[in-house]
Parts: sequence; structure tokens; C-alpha cells
Amino acid sequence: MGRWGSYFAAPISTIYAANDQNKIMTRTTANELIVDGGRVVGVKATMYDGTEVTANAKKGVILATGGYAANIGKVLDANVYWSTEYLSTATKTTNRSSLQGDGITMAEAVGAGTTGLGFTQLMPISWVDNGNLAFGGGNYACWINPTTGHRFVDEGSERDVLSLAEFRNGMEVNGTKGVFLEFYNKEQLMPAPMQLAEGDYEGRYYRRTIAELPELFAELGVTADPEVVVQTIRAYDAAVMGQGEYPDVGKAIASRTIGNVQKDENGKYLPDTYDLDNALLTIRLMAPSTHHTMGGISVDTDRHVLTADGDIIPGLYAAGEVTGGIHGGNRLGGNAIVEIFVSGRTAAQAVTADNE
Ligand SMILES: Cc1cc2nc3c(=O)[nH]c(=O)nc-3n(C[C@H](O)[C@H](O)[C@H](O)COP(=O)(O)OP(=O)(O)OC[C@H]3O[C@@H](n4cnc5c(N)ncnc54)[C@H](O)[C@@H]3O)c2cc1C
Repeated sequence: MGRWGSYFAAPISTIYAANDQNKIMTRTTANELIVDGGRVVGVKATMYDGTEVTANAKKGVILATGGYAANIGKVLDANVYWSTEYLSTATKTTNRSSLQGDGITMAEAVGAGTTGLGFTQLMPISWVDNGNLAFGGGNYACWINPTTGHRFVDEGSERDVLSLAEFRNGMEVNGTKGVFLEFYNKEQLMPAPMQLAEGDYEGRYYRRTIAELPELFAELGVTADPEVVVQTIRAYDAAVMGQGEYPDVGKAIASRTIGNVQKDENGKYLPDTYDLDNALLTIRLMAPSTHHTMGGISVDTDRHVLTADGDIIPGLYAAGEVTGGIHGGNRLGGNAIVEIFVSGRTAAQAVTADNE
């Protein structure tokens, strides 16, 4: 297995070790739950070549079809959190296209209730061209309003704070709203997912000195005065070096300056060596896109699926992002992975307990 494939190794070996009759059917879409005498007893599905298949499940069905962040229609229908001035059919997603909320639709068809569907988490660091997660955000960069040239948010804020600030301060590019400019020093060490290839990536990132900003801004339709942007970066760097207040939106805990600067043997900045003119900068364009849907199927703590009245639907369980209510209105980063493992195990234990 490759780098990402290792994620799947443990679940796959667990499934086969549990029962050698178990089968994983890839490229097969579940369409409908089968109900017999009020109990869910299986799933109807269609294989990649159109072949209809039925999976019978005497002990129960666990829905684990993920969220619906790739279904912008469903997101917008239920949305109670984001202004429709910002969230629209043009909003892109970090999710793969199969995350349409099929499990919720199937569960609702057999009487399941839902909760929290109005809350969708946006990812504030998404590529403008395709919505994919760009990675990063935080303490290495200055985020700049492409119209005013000013820093517009504390870069270490929560995802919803960052996304809202982007919508309020960003520009529109091909229908994508909230597009902003991130500046950092090209020599900044980045973790693996953020290591960018050399040169430019049209529409995503550019490497420029400050003298080259006017030409780049003209190319990108950025109307901010490049001189103001340079002033913002100098003020930001002065604050990082302990020589002033952070501009506009208060403190960030920056790990390094955007301009070049040397440090003494104790790691203390030597402001006299500061040089922005010759620094090569990475400039990224990013925007918010839909990332995680906090709402979903109503479940109890054992992961039985519930009707809107709170009654258990016999034979039906749900785990992971297809369920609602676990993360409230704004999931903390990292908690989804924890939740899918815990909830999957809990649901499996409930199936076993219910069939003893
Ligand atoms: C780019 C990205 C990065 C993330 N990083 C983190 C992170 O660092 N930490 C964290 O905690 N969370 C992270 N998340 C969120 C987390 O990955 C998800 O919440 C989690 O994977 C959901 O797991 P799941 O098993 O419920 O659903 P998924 O992992 O989404 O799996 C659902 C599966 O069901 C399939 N499916 C859907 N409909 C059907 C159907 N009708 N028939 C058959 N199959 C169907 C889908 O194709 C998919 O394979 C990230 C999400 C994204 C998109």
C-alpha cells in the first residue's frame, strides 16, 4: 500500500479476518434500504457496469456513507448558518464527488429523522480553481485583502472565523467568492502536504519579489495598491521581530518574518539585517469551500438510527459523517477521524449486542 493506502489496511484486514465470507464491493452504489416487517434487512445497490445487487443483512445495516459537502444543493437547502450572499452554487468543495448525502436520503426513506443539517463547515484554505484543500493556515503567513492591501484576520483563528473574514474581505474569481492573498517567505519550511513545486501554478500560487507585485496584481485582477501591501508586510514583520503591534487585526503568533532576516546565536532576530526587497515570496490565492457537514441522521449513543420521534428503527445503524449532532455547529479540526473510529466500533458493538 502507498502512503495514503495505509489508512485502509487496518479496516480491510479486520473485515476479512472477521469472516472469510465478507466481501468488499468497490465501484458499487447503494440505492435503497430493504425493509421487512419494520426491520431493515439489507441494501439494494448498482455495480459500476449497471448490474443490480442485493446485500442481505440479517443482523443489521450500518450506514457509513459520509457527509454531503459535495452536494451544494443539499447544503444550501438546509443552510441556517452562512449568509447566502456568500454561500452559493458557485462555492466549491474539498470533498470527493460521491459525498452527496446518499445515506441520509436512504435513511429518510425508511423513516429516519435528521438533525443539524443547516450547519456546514467551510475550509478557509482551499484552492480557488477546484476547491481542494490547499493545506496550511496559521502562524507562518500574512493574509491580505486583495482590494485594500491590509491584513484582514488573525491567521490563527477558527475555520468559521477565517471563512467569514475571507468572504467579507476577499474578491470574486470566476464566481468563487472570498478569494484572498496569502504571503510568506519562499524559504519557509512547510510540512509535507504544503510543499509546493518550484515556480508558479497558474491560479493557485506565484513566486515574486515585492518589485514584481504590480505586474502580478494586474495579471490577477488584484486592485490593492502594491505599496500598501508592502507596508502591511513590513508592519507585520516588525511585529514578528518584537518591534511593534501587528497591523489591523491584532496578534498572530508568527513563526517567522516574510522578509529575509538573520538571527543571533540565541535565535533572536537582528532587525538591522531585515531585507524585504530581495526576499522571494510565495503568494497563494485561496478561498473557502465546503468541507464537513455537521448534520445528518439522528442516532442514539449506541448508533441506532432514530425516527424524528426518537424511536429506534430496528436493524439500522449509522456511523461517521453521515450522522448528525455529534460536533454541534462547528467541528473542531481532527475530531472527525476520532469520531469515525469510535462510532464505527460503537455501532458494530450495538449490532452484536442486539443480536445476542
Ligand atoms: C480533504 C479532507 C481532509 C480532511 N482532514 C481531516 C483531518 O485531518 N482530521 C479529521 O478529523 N477530519 C478530516 N477530514 C474530515 C474526515 O476525513 C471525514 O469527516 C471522514 O473521513 C468521514 O468519514 P466517513 O467514514 O464517515 O465517510 P467518508 O470517509 O467520506 O467515506 C464515505 C464513503 O461512502 C461512499 N459512498 C457515499 N455514498 C455512497 C453510496 N450511495 N453507495 C456506496 N458508497 C457510497 C463514499 O464514496 C465514501 O467512500 C477531512 C476531510 C477532507 C475532505
